[in-house]
Amino acid sequence: MIESMDDEKAAGFEYQPVQVLKGVGQAVAEKLERLEIYTVQDVLFHLPIRYEDRTKVTPLGSLQFGQQALVEGVIDYCEVAYSSRGRRSLLCHLSDNTGAIVLRFFHFSKAQQNNLTIGKTLRCFGEARRGASRLEFVHPEYQIIQQAGATIDQSLTPVYPKTEGVHQSLLKKISDQVLNKINQGFLLDWLPQQIIAEYHFPDLVTALSSVHRPHKHENVFALNACRTRAQQRLVFEELLAHKLSLLQSRRKIKQAKAIKLSVSKQGYSSFIDRLAFELTGAQEKVIAEIFADINHEHPMLRLVQGDVGSGKTVVAAAAAMAATNAGFQVAIMAPTEILAEQHFANFIEWFDENNCLLLTGRDKGSGRQQKLKQIISGECQIIIGTHALFQDDVEFRQLALMVVDEQHRFGVHQRLALREKGRAENSQDIIMPHQLIMTATPIPRSLAMTAYADLDYSIIDELPKGRKPVTTVVVSTSRRDEVMSRIEKACEKGEQAYWVCTLVEESEVLQCQAAEVAAEQLTAELKNVRVGLVHGRMKQQHKQSVVNRFKNKEIDLLVATTVIEVGVDVPEASLMVIENAERLGLAQLHQLRGRVGRGGKQSACVLMYQPPLSETGRQRMSILRETSDGFKVAEKDLQLRGPGEVLGTRQTGLMQMRIADIVRDEHLFAEVNKTAQYIIKHHPRAIKPLVRRWLGKAVRFANV
Ligand code: ADP
Ligand code: MG
Repeated sequence: MIESMDDEKAAGFEYQPVQVLKGVGQAVAEKLERLEIYTVQDVLFHLPIRYEDRTKVTPLGSLQFGQQALVEGVIDYCEVAYSSRGRRSLLCHLSDNTGAIVLRFFHFSKAQQNNLTIGKTLRCFGEARRGASRLEFVHPEYQIIQQAGATIDQSLTPVYPKTEGVHQSLLKKISDQVLNKINQGFLLDWLPQQIIAEYHFPDLVTALSSVHRPHKHENVFALNACRTRAQQRLVFEELLAHKLSLLQSRRKIKQAKAIKLSVSKQGYSSFIDRLAFELTGAQEKVIAEIFADINHEHPMLRLVQGDVGSGKTVVAAAAAMAATNAGFQVAIMAPTEILAEQHFANFIEWFDENNCLLLTGRDKGSGRQQKLKQIISGECQIIIGTHALFQDDVEFRQLALMVVDEQHRFGVHQRLALREKGRAENSQDIIMPHQLIMTATPIPRSLAMTAYADLDYSIIDELPKGRKPVTTVVVSTSRRDEVMSRIEKACEKGEQAYWVCTLVEESEVLQCQAAEVAAEQLTAELKNVRVGLVHGRMKQQHKQSVVNRFKNKEIDLLVATTVIEVGVDVPEASLMVIENAERLGLAQLHQLRGRVGRGGKQSACVLMYQPPLSETGRQRMSILRETSDGFKVAEKDLQLRGPGEVLGTRQTGLMQMRIADIVRDEHLFAEVNKTAQYIIKHHPRAIKPLVRRWLGKAVRFANV
């Protein structure tokens, strides 16, 4: 334990392990690790996610629906009630001289029940919900007090992000200790004075103190909307730290060596000759950007974004051509087997089949060994696969280019792990492959600048000629009959359709069973329609043969789980029915819909929902009905869902922020970007501590 402040300063108190705090032993430290709290500084930067006002008692009569409040009242009576489903709950009726509420407990012990006797005074904190007859608090925090108006909190109550086994009280106790010492000067403010002055920010110590322990006169609504100056300063600093970290990671990679790939006119035109279509102007533009990038001795770092069906695959193929023509290997990674197979099928049309190899989780035993040999020997130059490409025993001979498709479906870790795959060192240099990342999730530009600050950015903003926008209709399941006859009529005319089954449960087994049932039902109902079924648990060969039969028009209606979301490419299909569309997110629905409207036919998408539709469900449906523009869909998606989900990084931690929110705080981006450049130029020493302070362990992943 450190005794005097001078010692702490010398040792860098902020970097000391949490064990230096009172009450933190080995066991507690381990719990705190789950919150990524390792050091004293981490305690300070574990920021409240919201605040509660327990500084005043709200009279029961003035309580509003949805309000969080501290209330006091006398128990009138308690009862055990049963719901229509037989669910038991303890209801405790509470009143003061202004009104009454009900406390509802689904879980309660005999002791608890015995303790809540008529006439006792309770103080409770909770959220008022609409109950059967009056407002209810469900499982409020409560205590029995001697009389109304007993002593009450003097500052607003911070609520910290917590994890199992770590209570608010522990987080409060340890942050109290650090906050008590925060004025002693151990914590350096790394934001340059000039920036602080320019934006009228409070200094770091003031900001942290007020964010952890806001005064009771502060506006709790402003605090919960993250609008106080103290919060804004921290938001700004956090966004800045992320930006700096990504820029730094980019700089590191750009310093590595890469294989310079130049494309001859002849090579390019013979590639073009093999295509069955003409490239769009947007595809040509992006290919030119890629060719310019890889014609350097340092790695390309480029994100290509293009709506579903915009033709990203052929752009990747052009880049692959550059690598193979120069005698090097390329790895193409897809998020699902179906998509990997689809790519493989495309690539063997465009390249020598013997030069292409497909590696997925299905490859086992000697077959797999054989493929691994072909990869390490360099016998095959185009290696297409799923996560299977990550395995340690997969070694390349000379990987010049790495393509990651549908990036949003991979975690950041996976992307960076593959980055490591192609890494090689000779006596002087680190050598890395060029990186091409493709995504169909159109990200609003400002967001891309923040989330992908390490990448250059191309957009395929044009669809191939002759595409007709898909008409989208929204119908309730009560009109299933009409949908059936629509399918029948379409198939009679020789058109083809998808029927997509969705299920809330994550369970793949259940999803597949649901699809099986749907297929049986549809087969029985639609006598003249040839129904096929494809789902994730079918054997790969079987799956492929069904998809092929659909392609060859031997199947009219393909029943599928969401496995077709990416990868199945049957341009002739012109009708899609999505069952229980309300269960899917906007981006996913948009992706699915992108499976139709690929040929020249007028296509339609029927979103069938199970009433009643929730408010966001209704919004999602109407957005899709109104627009087929992926950008607009993405922007709305962002507003409805929040960025972590859009980017698929919720689990990976990279975009998980402590206080900033890349949608809410968008107004700060321009200033943050400017400040990042200023710091790199004038205060480079601040970069490391800022990044460490805000990203903590996540730095490991951002700086590979
Ligand atoms: P995505 O961008 O969704 O990955 P794909 O690369 O799968 O799109 O392309 C969608 C479909 O459009 C494929 O059938 C592909 O062959 C076709 N395609 C791609 N580019 C063109 C083009 N320039 N003209 C016509 N069809 C194209
Ligand atoms: Mg694609």
